[in-house]
Amino acid sequence: MTYTDEVMEKVIQRNPGEKEFHQAVKEVLDSLAPVIEKHPEYKKARILERLVEPERQIFFRVPWMDDSGDIQVNRGMRIEFNSAIGPYKGGLRFHPSVYPGIIKFLGFEQIFKNALTGLPMGGGKGGCDFDPKGKSDNEVMRFCQSFMSELFRHIGPNTDVPAGDIGVGGREIGFMYGQYRKLTNRFESVLTGKGLNWGGSLVRPEATGYGATYFAEEMLKARGTDFKGKTVVISGSGNVAQYAVQKVNQLGGKVVTLSDSSGSIYDPAGITGEKWDFIMDLKNVKRGRIKEYAEKYGVQYFEGKRPWTLVDKVDVAMPCATQNELDLEEAKVLVSKGCIAVSEGANMPTTPDAAEYFVENKVSFGPGKAANAGGVATSGLEMCQNHIGLSWTFEEVDKQLHQIMVNIHANAAKAAEKYGQPGNLIVGANIAGFLKVADAMMDQGLI
Ligand code: NDP
Repeated sequence: MTYTDEVMEKVIQRNPGEKEFHQAVKEVLDSLAPVIEKHPEYKKARILERLVEPERQIFFRVPWMDDSGDIQVNRGMRIEFNSAIGPYKGGLRFHPSVYPGIIKFLGFEQIFKNALTGLPMGGGKGGCDFDPKGKSDNEVMRFCQSFMSELFRHIGPNTDVPAGDIGVGGREIGFMYGQYRKLTNRFESVLTGKGLNWGGSLVRPEATGYGATYFAEEMLKARGTDFKGKTVVISGSGNVAQYAVQKVNQLGGKVVTLSDSSGSIYDPAGITGEKWDFIMDLKNVKRGRIKEYAEKYGVQYFEGKRPWTLVDKVDVAMPCATQNELDLEEAKVLVSKGCIAVSEGANMPTTPDAAEYFVENKVSFGPGKAANAGGVATSGLEMCQNHIGLSWTFEEVDKQLHQIMVNIHANAAKAAEKYGQPGNLIVGANIAGFLKVADAMMDQGLI
Protein backbone atom coordinates (compact mmCIF):
# COMPACT_ATOMS: atom_id res chain seq x y z
CA MET A 1 0.00 0.00 0.00
CA THR A 2 1.38 3.44 -0.88
CA TYR A 3 1.85 6.14 1.73
CA THR A 4 -1.02 8.26 0.38
CA ASP A 5 -3.30 5.18 0.43
CA GLU A 6 -2.36 4.65 4.09
CA VAL A 7 -3.27 8.23 4.90
CA MET A 8 -6.56 7.77 3.05
CA GLU A 9 -7.37 4.63 4.99
CA LYS A 10 -6.84 6.45 8.26
CA VAL A 11 -9.09 9.28 7.13
CA ILE A 12 -11.89 6.78 6.44
CA GLN A 13 -11.40 5.09 9.82
CA ARG A 14 -11.28 8.32 11.78
CA ASN A 15 -14.23 9.96 9.98
CA PRO A 16 -16.69 7.10 9.48
CA GLY A 17 -19.67 7.66 7.20
CA GLU A 18 -18.47 11.05 5.95
CA LYS A 19 -18.41 10.10 2.28
CA GLU A 20 -18.17 13.59 0.80
CA PHE A 21 -15.13 14.29 2.99
CA HIS A 22 -13.52 11.01 1.92
CA GLN A 23 -14.16 11.89 -1.73
CA ALA A 24 -12.57 15.34 -1.42
CA VAL A 25 -9.51 14.03 0.43
CA LYS A 26 -9.01 11.14 -2.00
CA GLU A 27 -8.94 13.44 -5.00
CA VAL A 28 -6.24 15.59 -3.41
CA LEU A 29 -4.14 12.68 -2.11
CA ASP A 30 -4.21 10.96 -5.51
CA SER A 31 -2.82 14.14 -7.07
CA LEU A 32 -0.12 14.52 -4.45
CA ALA A 33 1.61 11.13 -4.74
CA PRO A 34 4.32 12.41 -7.15
CA VAL A 35 4.93 15.48 -4.97
CA ILE A 36 5.47 13.39 -1.85
CA GLU A 37 7.86 11.16 -3.76
CA LYS A 38 9.91 14.19 -4.81
CA HIS A 39 9.75 15.80 -1.34
CA PRO A 40 10.24 13.19 1.40
CA GLU A 41 10.49 16.04 3.93
CA TYR A 42 6.70 16.46 3.75
CA LYS A 43 6.23 12.82 4.72
CA LYS A 44 8.72 13.11 7.57
CA ALA A 45 6.86 16.16 8.88
CA ARG A 46 3.52 14.29 8.51
CA ILE A 47 2.11 17.21 6.56
CA LEU A 48 -0.64 15.08 4.99
CA GLU A 49 -1.78 13.64 8.32
CA ARG A 50 -1.87 17.15 9.77
CA LEU A 51 -3.70 18.61 6.75
CA VAL A 52 -6.57 16.12 6.90
CA GLU A 53 -7.21 16.80 10.60
CA PRO A 54 -8.99 20.13 11.19
CA GLU A 55 -7.24 22.48 13.59
CA ARG A 56 -10.52 22.99 15.45
CA GLN A 57 -14.16 21.86 15.14
CA ILE A 58 -17.02 23.68 16.82
CA PHE A 59 -20.54 22.25 17.12
CA PHE A 60 -23.35 24.12 18.77
CA ARG A 61 -27.09 24.25 19.47
CA VAL A 62 -29.17 26.80 17.55
CA PRO A 63 -32.58 27.22 19.21
CA TRP A 64 -35.09 29.66 17.67
CA MET A 65 -38.81 30.36 17.66
CA ASP A 66 -40.90 30.01 14.50
CA ASP A 67 -43.82 32.25 13.55
CA SER A 68 -46.37 30.00 15.26
CA GLY A 69 -44.52 30.30 18.58
CA ASP A 70 -43.04 26.79 18.43
CA ILE A 71 -39.42 26.25 19.41
CA GLN A 72 -37.10 24.75 16.79
CA VAL A 73 -33.62 23.37 17.40
CA ASN A 74 -30.91 23.08 14.76
CA ARG A 75 -27.26 22.08 14.84
CA GLY A 76 -24.65 24.66 13.88
CA MET A 77 -21.00 24.04 13.14
CA ARG A 78 -17.79 25.73 12.12
CA ILE A 79 -14.82 23.65 11.06
CA GLU A 80 -11.57 25.59 11.17
CA PHE A 81 -9.31 23.50 8.99
CA ASN A 82 -6.03 25.24 8.44
CA SER A 83 -4.69 28.70 9.26
CA ALA A 84 -1.08 28.33 8.12
CA ILE A 85 -1.33 31.08 5.48
CA GLY A 86 -4.01 33.34 6.98
CA PRO A 87 -7.19 33.52 9.09
CA TYR A 88 -9.73 30.74 8.40
CA LYS A 89 -11.92 31.78 5.49
CA GLY A 90 -14.88 30.01 3.92
CA GLY A 91 -18.64 30.19 3.68
CA LEU A 92 -21.59 29.15 5.81
CA ARG A 93 -24.14 26.76 4.29
CA PHE A 94 -27.74 26.57 5.51
CA HIS A 95 -29.33 23.45 4.04
CA PRO A 96 -31.10 20.42 5.57
CA SER A 97 -28.36 18.12 4.18
CA VAL A 98 -25.64 19.79 6.29
CA TYR A 99 -23.67 17.41 8.54
CA PRO A 100 -19.96 17.21 9.42
CA GLY A 101 -19.06 15.22 6.26
CA ILE A 102 -20.30 18.04 4.00
CA ILE A 103 -18.73 20.85 6.01
CA LYS A 104 -15.43 18.97 6.27
CA PHE A 105 -15.29 18.36 2.51
CA LEU A 106 -15.95 22.03 1.88
CA GLY A 107 -13.47 23.18 4.55
CA PHE A 108 -10.76 20.85 3.26
CA GLU A 109 -11.18 22.04 -0.36
CA GLN A 110 -11.14 25.61 0.88
CA ILE A 111 -7.53 25.24 2.13
CA PHE A 112 -6.21 24.69 -1.40
CA LYS A 113 -8.66 27.04 -3.11
CA ASN A 114 -7.69 29.93 -0.87
CA ALA A 115 -4.01 29.22 -1.38
CA LEU A 116 -4.54 29.31 -5.16
CA THR A 117 -5.96 32.84 -5.02
CA GLY A 118 -2.56 34.14 -3.92
CA LEU A 119 -4.20 35.97 -0.99
CA PRO A 120 -3.43 35.32 2.70
CA MET A 121 -6.43 33.18 3.69
CA GLY A 122 -6.60 29.88 5.56
CA GLY A 123 -9.38 27.31 5.06
CA GLY A 124 -12.59 26.77 7.01
CA LYS A 125 -16.29 26.24 6.47
CA GLY A 126 -19.45 26.17 8.54
CA GLY A 127 -23.17 25.87 8.41
CA CYS A 128 -26.33 24.46 9.83
CA ASP A 129 -29.02 21.90 8.98
CA PHE A 130 -31.55 24.75 8.89
CA ASP A 131 -33.73 24.96 5.75
CA PRO A 132 -34.41 28.58 4.77
CA LYS A 133 -36.95 27.48 2.14
CA GLY A 134 -40.47 28.56 2.99
CA LYS A 135 -39.38 30.51 6.10
CA SER A 136 -40.50 34.09 6.63
CA ASP A 137 -37.95 36.91 6.82
CA ASN A 138 -38.61 37.13 10.57
CA GLU A 139 -37.94 33.44 11.06
CA VAL A 140 -34.71 33.70 9.07
CA MET A 141 -33.69 36.70 11.20
CA ARG A 142 -34.38 34.95 14.52
CA PHE A 143 -32.51 31.89 13.31
CA CYS A 144 -29.49 33.93 12.11
CA GLN A 145 -29.37 35.83 15.40
CA SER A 146 -29.39 32.60 17.39
CA PHE A 147 -26.71 31.09 15.13
CA MET A 148 -24.46 34.13 15.60
CA SER A 149 -25.11 34.24 19.37
CA GLU A 150 -22.76 31.27 19.63
CA LEU A 151 -20.55 31.66 16.56
CA PHE A 152 -19.45 35.20 17.45
CA ARG A 153 -17.09 34.02 20.20
CA HIS A 154 -15.11 31.86 17.75
CA ILE A 155 -14.61 34.29 14.85
CA GLY A 156 -12.92 37.64 14.26
CA PRO A 157 -11.18 39.67 11.55
CA ASN A 158 -7.82 38.02 12.27
CA THR A 159 -9.16 34.63 13.36
CA ASP A 160 -11.95 33.40 11.13
CA VAL A 161 -13.98 35.33 8.55
CA PRO A 162 -17.08 33.44 7.28
CA ALA A 163 -19.04 34.27 4.10
CA GLY A 164 -22.12 32.94 2.27
CA ASP A 165 -22.74 29.62 0.51
CA ILE A 166 -25.90 27.64 -0.33
CA GLY A 167 -28.82 29.19 1.56
CA VAL A 168 -26.74 32.11 2.84
CA GLY A 169 -26.92 35.28 0.75
CA GLY A 170 -27.06 39.01 1.44
CA ARG A 171 -30.11 38.77 3.69
CA GLU A 172 -28.58 36.17 6.02
CA ILE A 173 -25.16 37.87 6.10
CA GLY A 174 -26.95 41.10 7.11
CA PHE A 175 -28.81 39.49 10.02
CA MET A 176 -25.68 37.72 11.24
CA TYR A 177 -23.51 40.82 10.95
CA GLY A 178 -26.03 42.86 12.93
CA GLN A 179 -26.01 40.33 15.74
CA TYR A 180 -22.20 40.11 15.78
CA ARG A 181 -21.95 43.91 16.02
CA LYS A 182 -24.44 44.04 18.87
CA LEU A 183 -22.76 41.28 20.86
CA THR A 184 -19.19 42.54 20.44
CA ASN A 185 -19.81 46.29 20.15
CA ARG A 186 -17.37 46.28 17.24
CA PHE A 187 -17.80 47.19 13.58
CA GLU A 188 -15.17 45.07 11.91
CA SER A 189 -14.39 42.87 8.94
CA VAL A 190 -15.72 39.61 10.35
CA LEU A 191 -18.00 38.49 7.51
CA THR A 192 -17.74 39.00 3.76
CA GLY A 193 -20.57 39.40 1.29
CA LYS A 194 -21.71 42.42 3.33
CA GLY A 195 -24.05 45.11 1.97
CA LEU A 196 -22.42 47.97 0.09
CA ASN A 197 -23.44 50.56 2.71
CA TRP A 198 -21.79 48.69 5.55
CA GLY A 199 -18.43 47.39 4.35
CA GLY A 200 -19.30 45.21 1.38
CA SER A 201 -17.36 45.16 -1.87
CA LEU A 202 -18.62 45.78 -5.35
CA VAL A 203 -18.45 42.60 -7.47
CA ARG A 204 -18.68 40.23 -4.46
CA PRO A 205 -22.18 39.04 -5.46
CA GLU A 206 -21.03 38.54 -9.05
CA ALA A 207 -17.60 37.14 -8.20
CA THR A 208 -18.05 33.36 -8.17
CA GLY A 209 -20.12 33.21 -11.36
CA TYR A 210 -17.92 35.74 -13.15
CA GLY A 211 -14.77 33.99 -11.93
CA ALA A 212 -15.92 30.54 -13.12
CA THR A 213 -16.68 32.09 -16.51
CA TYR A 214 -13.28 33.84 -16.68
CA PHE A 215 -11.71 30.49 -15.84
CA ALA A 216 -13.67 28.81 -18.64
CA GLU A 217 -12.53 31.60 -20.97
CA GLU A 218 -8.89 30.79 -20.11
CA MET A 219 -9.49 27.10 -20.84
CA LEU A 220 -11.09 28.01 -24.17
CA LYS A 221 -8.22 30.38 -24.95
CA ALA A 222 -5.73 27.54 -24.37
CA ARG A 223 -7.65 25.63 -27.07
CA GLY A 224 -7.49 28.62 -29.41
CA THR A 225 -11.13 29.60 -29.08
CA ASP A 226 -13.52 31.73 -27.00
CA PHE A 227 -17.16 32.01 -25.84
CA LYS A 228 -18.49 33.64 -29.01
CA GLY A 229 -21.35 31.60 -30.44
CA LYS A 230 -20.88 28.79 -27.89
CA THR A 231 -23.84 26.96 -26.35
CA VAL A 232 -23.51 26.77 -22.59
CA VAL A 233 -25.38 24.48 -20.22
CA ILE A 234 -25.58 25.70 -16.62
CA SER A 235 -27.14 24.04 -13.58
CA GLY A 236 -28.52 25.79 -10.50
CA SER A 237 -30.23 29.16 -10.45
CA GLY A 238 -28.76 30.64 -7.28
CA ASN A 239 -26.01 33.18 -6.79
CA VAL A 240 -23.28 31.40 -8.76
CA ALA A 241 -25.47 30.34 -11.68
CA GLN A 242 -27.10 33.78 -12.01
CA TYR A 243 -23.84 35.64 -12.54
CA ALA A 244 -22.31 32.89 -14.67
CA VAL A 245 -25.26 33.45 -17.05
CA GLN A 246 -24.65 37.19 -17.09
CA LYS A 247 -20.92 36.89 -17.82
CA VAL A 248 -21.36 34.20 -20.49
CA ASN A 249 -23.87 36.50 -22.20
CA GLN A 250 -21.40 39.39 -22.05
CA LEU A 251 -18.69 37.24 -23.62
CA GLY A 252 -20.95 36.23 -26.52
CA GLY A 253 -22.05 32.76 -25.42
CA LYS A 254 -25.62 31.49 -25.16
CA VAL A 255 -26.89 29.88 -21.93
CA VAL A 256 -29.78 27.51 -22.63
CA THR A 257 -30.48 25.78 -19.29
CA LEU A 258 -30.87 26.46 -15.57
CA SER A 259 -32.20 24.30 -12.75
CA ASP A 260 -33.15 24.09 -9.10
CA SER A 261 -33.65 21.11 -6.82
CA SER A 262 -37.08 20.48 -8.42
CA GLY A 263 -36.12 20.40 -12.11
CA SER A 264 -34.59 22.12 -15.15
CA ILE A 265 -35.64 24.52 -17.89
CA TYR A 266 -34.41 24.49 -21.49
CA ASP A 267 -34.61 27.73 -23.42
CA PRO A 268 -33.02 27.26 -26.86
CA ALA A 269 -33.21 31.01 -27.56
CA GLY A 270 -30.91 31.76 -24.60
CA ILE A 271 -31.47 33.26 -21.15
CA THR A 272 -30.76 36.89 -21.95
CA GLY A 273 -32.04 40.43 -21.35
CA GLU A 274 -35.40 40.61 -19.64
CA LYS A 275 -35.40 36.83 -19.08
CA TRP A 276 -32.29 37.15 -16.92
CA ASP A 277 -33.95 39.97 -14.95
CA PHE A 278 -36.91 37.65 -14.41
CA ILE A 279 -34.63 34.96 -12.93
CA MET A 280 -33.00 37.50 -10.59
CA ASP A 281 -36.38 38.64 -9.30
CA LEU A 282 -37.80 35.10 -9.12
CA LYS A 283 -34.89 33.66 -7.13
CA ASN A 284 -33.71 36.61 -5.02
CA VAL A 285 -36.94 38.49 -4.26
CA LYS A 286 -39.92 36.17 -4.76
CA ARG A 287 -37.87 33.10 -3.81
CA GLY A 288 -39.89 31.03 -6.31
CA ARG A 289 -39.19 27.92 -8.40
CA ILE A 290 -37.45 27.68 -11.80
CA LYS A 291 -40.61 26.09 -13.23
CA GLU A 292 -42.16 29.57 -13.23
CA TYR A 293 -39.64 30.63 -15.90
CA ALA A 294 -40.95 27.90 -18.21
CA GLU A 295 -44.54 28.98 -17.55
CA LYS A 296 -43.75 32.63 -18.22
CA TYR A 297 -41.70 32.15 -21.43
CA GLY A 298 -43.36 29.02 -22.81
CA VAL A 299 -40.21 26.87 -22.81
CA GLN A 300 -39.79 23.25 -21.74
CA TYR A 301 -39.55 22.28 -18.06
CA PHE A 302 -38.23 18.89 -16.97
CA GLU A 303 -39.43 17.94 -13.49
CA GLY A 304 -36.82 16.10 -11.41
CA LYS A 305 -34.22 16.26 -14.22
CA ARG A 306 -30.75 17.75 -14.32
CA PRO A 307 -29.84 19.80 -17.40
CA TRP A 308 -26.89 17.82 -18.80
CA THR A 309 -28.80 15.50 -21.10
CA LEU A 310 -31.58 17.81 -22.24
CA VAL A 311 -29.98 19.60 -25.17
CA ASP A 312 -28.81 18.48 -28.62
CA LYS A 313 -25.57 20.42 -28.72
CA VAL A 314 -23.25 21.65 -25.95
CA ASP A 315 -19.91 23.44 -26.07
CA VAL A 316 -19.38 24.34 -22.41
CA ALA A 317 -20.92 22.95 -19.21
CA MET A 318 -20.93 24.85 -15.92
CA PRO A 319 -22.34 22.94 -12.93
CA CYS A 320 -23.28 25.66 -10.44
CA ALA A 321 -25.72 24.01 -7.98
CA THR A 322 -24.30 21.43 -5.57
CA GLN A 323 -21.97 18.46 -5.00
CA ASN A 324 -22.16 15.29 -7.11
CA GLU A 325 -24.73 16.66 -9.56
CA LEU A 326 -22.98 15.50 -12.75
CA ASP A 327 -22.29 11.77 -13.02
CA LEU A 328 -20.48 9.48 -15.46
CA GLU A 329 -23.52 8.75 -17.65
CA GLU A 330 -24.22 12.45 -17.97
CA ALA A 331 -20.54 13.16 -18.72
CA LYS A 332 -20.68 10.66 -21.57
CA VAL A 333 -23.74 12.39 -23.02
CA LEU A 334 -22.08 15.81 -22.73
CA VAL A 335 -18.96 14.60 -24.54
CA SER A 336 -21.05 12.94 -27.26
CA LYS A 337 -22.84 16.24 -27.82
CA GLY A 338 -19.62 18.16 -28.36
CA CYS A 339 -18.73 19.52 -24.91
CA ILE A 340 -15.11 20.79 -24.92
CA ALA A 341 -14.91 22.50 -21.51
CA VAL A 342 -16.35 22.07 -18.02
CA SER A 343 -15.92 24.82 -15.44
CA GLU A 344 -17.15 23.93 -11.95
CA GLY A 345 -18.94 26.90 -10.38
CA ALA A 346 -20.15 24.66 -7.53
CA ASN A 347 -17.95 22.70 -5.12
CA MET A 348 -17.28 19.10 -6.22
CA PRO A 349 -20.32 18.95 -8.56
CA THR A 350 -18.73 16.32 -10.82
CA THR A 351 -18.41 12.76 -9.52
CA PRO A 352 -14.82 11.41 -9.58
CA ASP A 353 -15.49 8.93 -12.42
CA ALA A 354 -17.15 11.64 -14.50
CA ALA A 355 -14.23 14.02 -13.93
CA GLU A 356 -11.82 11.28 -14.97
CA TYR A 357 -13.88 10.65 -18.11
CA PHE A 358 -13.69 14.33 -19.07
CA VAL A 359 -9.91 14.41 -18.59
CA GLU A 360 -9.42 11.16 -20.55
CA ASN A 361 -11.52 12.55 -23.38
CA LYS A 362 -9.47 15.76 -23.56
CA VAL A 363 -12.27 17.97 -22.31
CA SER A 364 -10.75 21.01 -20.54
CA PHE A 365 -11.83 20.49 -16.95
CA GLY A 366 -11.68 23.31 -14.37
CA PRO A 367 -12.10 21.82 -10.88
CA GLY A 368 -14.12 23.86 -8.38
CA LYS A 369 -11.21 24.68 -6.14
CA ALA A 370 -9.67 26.58 -9.04
CA ALA A 371 -12.66 27.59 -11.19
CA ASN A 372 -14.89 28.91 -8.40
CA ALA A 373 -12.12 30.55 -6.37
CA GLY A 374 -13.22 33.98 -7.62
CA GLY A 375 -15.80 34.18 -4.83
CA VAL A 376 -13.37 33.78 -1.99
CA ALA A 377 -10.76 35.87 -3.83
CA THR A 378 -13.18 38.78 -3.95
CA SER A 379 -13.99 38.17 -0.29
CA GLY A 380 -10.26 38.62 0.25
CA LEU A 381 -10.46 41.89 -1.67
CA GLU A 382 -13.43 42.92 0.52
CA MET A 383 -11.32 42.27 3.66
CA CYS A 384 -8.48 44.26 2.15
CA GLN A 385 -10.76 47.27 1.47
CA ASN A 386 -12.12 47.01 5.04
CA HIS A 387 -8.60 47.03 6.48
CA ILE A 388 -7.53 50.14 4.56
CA GLY A 389 -10.92 51.82 4.99
CA LEU A 390 -11.52 52.43 1.27
CA SER A 391 -13.93 51.15 -1.38
CA TRP A 392 -12.68 50.36 -4.85
CA THR A 393 -14.76 50.86 -8.02
CA PHE A 394 -16.55 48.01 -9.80
CA GLU A 395 -13.98 48.16 -12.61
CA GLU A 396 -11.06 47.98 -10.18
CA VAL A 397 -12.38 44.92 -8.29
CA ASP A 398 -13.44 43.18 -11.50
CA LYS A 399 -10.00 43.77 -13.00
CA GLN A 400 -8.32 42.21 -9.95
CA LEU A 401 -10.75 39.27 -9.97
CA HIS A 402 -10.09 38.67 -13.66
CA GLN A 403 -6.32 38.75 -13.14
CA ILE A 404 -6.58 36.34 -10.19
CA MET A 405 -8.53 33.85 -12.33
CA VAL A 406 -5.98 34.14 -15.15
CA ASN A 407 -3.18 33.50 -12.61
CA ILE A 408 -4.94 30.50 -11.05
CA HIS A 409 -5.38 28.92 -14.46
CA ALA A 410 -1.74 29.58 -15.38
CA ASN A 411 -0.40 28.26 -12.05
CA ALA A 412 -2.52 25.10 -12.17
CA ALA A 413 -1.48 24.46 -15.78
CA LYS A 414 2.19 25.01 -14.88
CA ALA A 415 2.08 22.64 -11.88
CA ALA A 416 0.33 19.96 -13.97
CA GLU A 417 3.02 20.23 -16.61
CA LYS A 418 5.85 20.16 -14.06
CA TYR A 419 4.55 16.97 -12.44
CA GLY A 420 4.09 15.15 -15.74
CA GLN A 421 0.35 15.56 -16.36
CA PRO A 422 0.06 18.45 -18.82
CA GLY A 423 -3.48 19.75 -19.25
CA ASN A 424 -4.78 18.04 -16.08
CA LEU A 425 -5.96 21.03 -14.07
CA ILE A 426 -7.30 18.82 -11.25
CA VAL A 427 -3.81 17.61 -10.48
CA GLY A 428 -2.31 21.05 -11.17
CA ALA A 429 -4.68 22.90 -8.84
CA ASN A 430 -4.21 20.40 -6.04
CA ILE A 431 -0.42 20.53 -6.28
CA ALA A 432 -0.13 24.32 -6.61
CA GLY A 433 -2.46 24.89 -3.63
CA PHE A 434 -0.80 22.19 -1.54
CA LEU A 435 2.78 23.41 -2.00
CA LYS A 436 2.00 26.88 -0.68
CA VAL A 437 0.27 25.59 2.46
CA ALA A 438 2.71 22.73 3.07
CA ASP A 439 5.70 25.08 2.93
CA ALA A 440 4.02 27.48 5.36
CA MET A 441 3.38 24.57 7.74
CA MET A 442 7.00 23.45 7.45
CA ASP A 443 8.23 26.99 8.21
CA GLN A 444 6.00 27.28 11.29
CA GLY A 445 7.06 24.08 13.04
CA LEU A 446 5.03 21.33 14.65
CA ILE A 447 1.86 22.98 15.87
P1 NDP B 1 -27.56 29.33 -3.71
O1 NDP B 1 -28.20 28.87 -2.46
O2 NDP B 1 -27.65 30.75 -4.11
O3 NDP B 1 -28.08 28.46 -4.94
C1 NDP B 1 -27.96 27.06 -4.94
C2 NDP B 1 -28.63 26.52 -6.18
O4 NDP B 1 -28.37 25.12 -6.26
C3 NDP B 1 -30.13 26.67 -6.17
O5 NDP B 1 -30.59 26.77 -7.49
C4 NDP B 1 -30.58 25.35 -5.51
O6 NDP B 1 -31.91 24.97 -5.82
C5 NDP B 1 -29.60 24.39 -6.12
N1 NDP B 1 -29.40 23.26 -5.22
C6 NDP B 1 -28.97 23.30 -3.93
N2 NDP B 1 -28.94 22.07 -3.40
C7 NDP B 1 -29.35 21.24 -4.37
C8 NDP B 1 -29.52 19.84 -4.45
N3 NDP B 1 -29.26 19.05 -3.39
N4 NDP B 1 -29.94 19.31 -5.64
C9 NDP B 1 -30.21 20.12 -6.70
N5 NDP B 1 -30.07 21.45 -6.68
C10 NDP B 1 -29.63 22.00 -5.55
O7 NDP B 1 -26.01 28.86 -3.57
P2 NDP B 1 -24.76 29.36 -4.38
O8 NDP B 1 -25.13 29.69 -5.77
O9 NDP B 1 -24.05 30.36 -3.55
O10 NDP B 1 -23.84 28.04 -4.37
C11 NDP B 1 -23.90 27.06 -5.40
C12 NDP B 1 -22.65 26.22 -5.36
O11 NDP B 1 -21.49 27.06 -5.53
C13 NDP B 1 -22.38 25.47 -4.06
O12 NDP B 1 -21.72 24.25 -4.35
C14 NDP B 1 -21.41 26.38 -3.32
O13 NDP B 1 -20.65 25.68 -2.36
C15 NDP B 1 -20.57 26.85 -4.48
N6 NDP B 1 -19.82 28.09 -4.25
C16 NDP B 1 -20.47 29.25 -3.92
C17 NDP B 1 -19.76 30.41 -3.72
C18 NDP B 1 -20.42 31.71 -3.48
O14 NDP B 1 -19.71 32.72 -3.49
N7 NDP B 1 -21.71 31.77 -3.29
C19 NDP B 1 -18.28 30.40 -3.77
C20 NDP B 1 -17.71 29.16 -4.23
C21 NDP B 1 -18.46 28.05 -4.42
P3 NDP B 1 -33.05 25.12 -4.69
O15 NDP B 1 -33.33 26.58 -4.63
O16 NDP B 1 -34.17 24.31 -5.19
O17 NDP B 1 -32.45 24.58 -3.42
